[in-house]
Amino acid sequence: MKKRFFPWRLFWKFFVSLAILLNGLCLLTMGVASYVFNFDFYTYKNLVFGTSFFFISMLGSLIFAYRFALPLRRVILKALRMANKQLFFQISGREIDEESLFEAEPGEYFELEQALDQIRKKMKKRREQLAHEREESQAIMTSIGDGVVNISPDLRLLYFNSGFAAHFLTKDQIRGSGENSLMLTQVLRDPPILDLFDLAVKEGHGGNIQRQMSTLVTGGLRYFSVTINPLRDPKTRVLYGALGIFHDITELKRAEQIRIEFVENASHELRTPLTTVKGYLETFKEDFHAGRTEQSTFFLNTISKNVDRLTELVSDLLTISTLENGVAPELENISLDQVTADVVERLSPMATDKNVMISYKIDGVSSLRADPSKLEQVLENLIANAIKYGKPGGRVEVNWKKVEEKFGQAPQICLTVKDNGQGIASEHLPRLFERFYRVDKARSREVGGTGLGLSIVKHILQNHGGSVSVHSEVGVGTEFSCCFPDRVN
Ligand code: ADP
Repeated sequence: MKKRFFPWRLFWKFFVSLAILLNGLCLLTMGVASYVFNFDFYTYKNLVFGTSFFFISMLGSLIFAYRFALPLRRVILKALRMANKQLFFQISGREIDEESLFEAEPGEYFELEQALDQIRKKMKKRREQLAHEREESQAIMTSIGDGVVNISPDLRLLYFNSGFAAHFLTKDQIRGSGENSLMLTQVLRDPPILDLFDLAVKEGHGGNIQRQMSTLVTGGLRYFSVTINPLRDPKTRVLYGALGIFHDITELKRAEQIRIEFVENASHELRTPLTTVKGYLETFKEDFHAGRTEQSTFFLNTISKNVDRLTELVSDLLTISTLENGVAPELENISLDQVTADVVERLSPMATDKNVMISYKIDGVSSLRADPSKLEQVLENLIANAIKYGKPGGRVEVNWKKVEEKFGQAPQICLTVKDNGQGIASEHLPRLFERFYRVDKARSREVGGTGLGLSIVKHILQNHGGSVSVHSEVGVGTEFSCCFPDRVN
């Protein structure tokens, strides 16, 4: 193919036409002349003239055809290059430099070449624009967390972004998706969502639906708000597919669930002592009117105990709410010896009641920068729990020590509160720091717990940039560790 291109076809056609035309004209002229002037056509002179004319006309036709075809060659090459790069190289051969072809001054076909050059410039600009647009939309699609999928009318995947792939496509499916062979039904198994896609591509109806679906992301089941819109040709309004956007709302749902549970738990916790107070007040009133006073002290004591519990609950709820609002702690240098001794002293009646021995040790550190009231609360909650849930006659060990910098982690000051009580079964440990979570509800209420103590401890540590953890063994005991960053100021 490469060898044939000159453009030879055009050259030969022009050459043959010109040669036929010239020789035909010559023959016609000689014929007419011989007829009009009645001279002998077949003389030696005429034959020599005729033969010479034939060869000269052939040579002239060759030259004319060449001069006619040569400038066209460049026009054809330009058009070819614009139409198809591969074909251009195939036909022209690699030796033609594309840039010099377009940069050369326009020849005989000046207007045509100029028009082609203009078209090429416009096409180049448009191509660059398209490449930029494609790059930008690719970047947007990759950076948005939502899954985006574009499907054809027969429910095949035409396009999907990394968010969609991460949730719903296996590695093999991603690799095979180049052939557009992946059906939506192979990827999503949720009938209501498939129905919505079907409705969009067949009837042109969009829609939104919230569904829980199993995904390939760790954690499996996730909630999605799925919006599906039909795609129509802007001019003809003919449907040519649908676009689905999968917005992951798992965290939102979880937060909503936690809020619902919190309100339920808080109402329940408040209602129990309130019901008791109301009940005892009614009985007390009846007895009072009837002149019976022998049980009054018991009633009043119970009412007072429950009001104390209500006050404690409300105060814990307020503390949690303040901590969750992320109010920055007011840091001060606190003497660890002093604060620990104060808290231990305050809790000693409780410890004496249960015959629990509290000891404390402070190792290699003397002070900590923290919010004093918050630090006291951490100590009080943990030591009180160790006494409450420890065994009678048991012991509680409180320990402060400095943990030096290791594995790139800044130095910390860690508190451990350890008891030798009943311990906590491992299945409870992951949820222990949740609000109102109790291992044994009845036991917690009996010992005056609100179920908020450990949650408060966790929030205080978070507010200080620290962390809390628990280690427990059933029948052996429990150890809580709280690590505060060792701040200079
Ligand atoms: P509560 O007010 O019920 O004590 P907390 O949030 O302080 O609430 O503790 C949550 C639950 O964790 C408690 O109800 C208890 O079951 C368990 N718990 C806390 N500390 C200990 C401990 N030292 N030993 C055994 N169980 C504990």
